[in-house]
Amino acid sequence: MADLFYPQRCVGCGRRASDVLCPACFEALPEVGRPVCARCGLPTAFETFVCEECKNVDFGFERASAPLRYEGVGKEIVHVLKYRGYTRVVERLAAPLMLGAVEDLGAGFDAVVPVPLHRSRLRKRGFNQAELLARGVARRINAPVSDKLKVVRSTRDQVELSAAGRRANVAGAFAAKGRVAGRILLVDDVFTTGATMSACAGTLLGAGAGEVLALSLCRTV
Ligand SMILES: [Zn+2]
Ligand SMILES: [Zn+2]
Repeated sequence: MADLFYPQRCVGCGRRASDVLCPACFEALPEVGRPVCARCGLPTAFETFVCEECKNVDFGFERASAPLRYEGVGKEIVHVLKYRGYTRVVERLAAPLMLGAVEDLGAGFDAVVPVPLHRSRLRKRGFNQAELLARGVARRINAPVSDKLKVVRSTRDQVELSAAGRRANVAGAFAAKGRVAGRILLVDDVFTTGATMSACAGTLLGAGAGEVLALSLCRTV
């Protein structure tokens, strides 16, 4: 449905464009680049397996990676995905960008699992942007999308919460729909403190997953 309204305008700046981004916004994509922390995906001064930011944090996932910083054009892309669900943005831009980050996480995934939305939010919005991203990536790596997670407790908006507050906010918020197995690629739109991804990963491990890797389109830095 969303494709009926695909943008004739650049999702970065709103100017008329022949593709989802105009050349100027494409040039301005806030790529995370290198080097990064291999564990949490944060840009660092040199390649490292753990950084100052994540060394004292327990994550349910093994490693996390994201191609874009959550700023500028990156933020605009997330915004149109979240509120309009343009699958064309996923196909033309988000999924191809995320493939590079998938490579950092290693090949061979048994399933791609989107971070779920609470039912009431899903009903209101009509789609889950994490699922749109998961589908776009899954098709490209020939892995099935597995809708194995559900939200069992509604959570507050994470925006104004501290890192500890975010962890408490999402603790026990997710449950698995049946058993899972193997190596799971967990997908969300934005990685902030990793609290949501971590809670989801913990749930997947509890349901039988062997390993969970976290992929997002954007990451706060
Ligand atoms: Zn533009
Ligand atoms: Zn780190």
